Amino acid sequence: MKFQPNASHFIDGEYAEDAAGAPIEVLYPATGEVIARLHSATPAVIEKALSSARAAQRDWAARTGTERGRVLRRAADIIRARNFELSVIETHDTGKPIQETTVADASSGADALEYFGGLAGSLTGEHIQLAGGDFVYTIREALGVCVGIGAWNYPTQIACWKAAPALACGNVMIFKPSETTPLSALKMAEIFVEAGAPKGVFNVVQGYGGVGATLVTDPRVAKVSLTGSVNTGRKVYAAAADGMKHVTMELGGKSPLIVFDDADLENAVSGAILGNFYSSGQICSNGTRVFVQKGIKDAFLQRLSERLALARIGDPMDALVNFGPVASAQQLEIVTNYIARGKAEGARLVHGGDQLDRPGYYLQPTVFADVTDGMTIAREEIFGPVMSVLDFESEDEVMTRANATGFGLAAGVFTRDLSRAHRVAAGFEAGTCYINTYNLSPVEAPFGGTKMSGVGRENSKLAISHYSEQKTVYVAMNDVQAPY
Ligand code: NAD
Repeated sequence: MKFQPNASHFIDGEYAEDAAGAPIEVLYPATGEVIARLHSATPAVIEKALSSARAAQRDWAARTGTERGRVLRRAADIIRARNFELSVIETHDTGKPIQETTVADASSGADALEYFGGLAGSLTGEHIQLAGGDFVYTIREALGVCVGIGAWNYPTQIACWKAAPALACGNVMIFKPSETTPLSALKMAEIFVEAGAPKGVFNVVQGYGGVGATLVTDPRVAKVSLTGSVNTGRKVYAAAADGMKHVTMELGGKSPLIVFDDADLENAVSGAILGNFYSSGQICSNGTRVFVQKGIKDAFLQRLSERLALARIGDPMDALVNFGPVASAQQLEIVTNYIARGKAEGARLVHGGDQLDRPGYYLQPTVFADVTDGMTIAREEIFGPVMSVLDFESEDEVMTRANATGFGLAAGVFTRDLSRAHRVAAGFEAGTCYINTYNLSPVEAPFGGTKMSGVGRENSKLAISHYSEQKTVYVAMNDVQAPY
């Protein structure tokens, strides 16, 4: 059963429509069939969302953190109870196998709501004692109306990772999903209302980039959190800067994954598979530059090919399938072009490389070996199931090469040498580093990028500081000394 939303947008506690908006067709990536037809937000819809959010914010912020937290925790419970239904929507929207969506999408959204729901009641300011009995206290305040803009790879998770800390701190949110995957955020909006969120606290407006741009520039918006590409990040950050707004930027990557000779081979291969082919490779933090030390290279490539032959590619709704299509025809074309570039620039194709002869946007898991640093596939984010394997000899050499990128989202190392593992992690220029594993992102840990990969952090207690600010109140306990 495909989810047919009642209307395109969810504003002020209910579905809203304006059929004058540009059409958005939602396609099931496994077949290419149209599963829903929505409309991009018109100026009237955007205005309605902004005024509803603005009107809701004062009352929401005036509630105790415990009350707000209760709503978030109820939403988490509802999501968990409906995990399968939500996972089916996510699979239809993204093409990701149901085997993945039932464990990694709605459930990770629920984790965020539960975590920040739990924190909400304990958010406080500070007391700072000064000389002579004077003191300062700070009041932790919400920022106001926050705009969340999502990418298409983890639509439910992205909506929840942004909404949970925002709402916990007393902000309200207008969320604009990616035009490629607009469905699941509408379900989240329904669930927030069912959990007791007042109308206007979480609104969803659909649309292409222009809708996001309009929201970002509106003076009523205090904060923008984007998950998307570096190019979009540049534009959104610049527009937000013009209004001196707070930002969180979760952008792209080209992360290194280093496998030393002494690594546990099976674990290293597993890490490389998780870091390149989960969600058909459409994960921002993927370790797509796999540096393999020369002594282990042949064994690594052989074992990798054996393991990849076990991938079950097919209908994402089949519970046994663990590798689905990419999310759109456009993404298929982008990735196919990169594969062609890899071949043309002399990388050695050791696995996959072809589109599958079936409907939908299917590509084989693809591995290139003998990749060198200057090749396009080693420099640019592909965002698809393409792994580049690069050779290296020494630790110094590989660290210089691993960091020689404008991106800085994630990085990983596989080695049995404890000192080396920590030295390498310390040397990585990346926001999230992994030792002997890859791509885990529990809500308790900060997640975000350095360099061009982003600004700010999602998840963990750190996210609170990105969704609130502290007002300083100086209290004098003595007479005021004026010079004349
Ligand atoms: P994208 O940049 O094309 O679009 C992201 C979102 O921004 C979409 O909702 C889009 O409509 C909107 N947008 C586009 N132009 C805009 C503008 N001028 N103003 C406001 N909004 C605008 O990215 P995508 O193709 O949807 O997603 C893939 C990218 O997202 C990859 O680069 C990937 O690495 C990145 N990503 C990052 C993270 C992270 O946490 N760091 C997570 C997932 C994806």
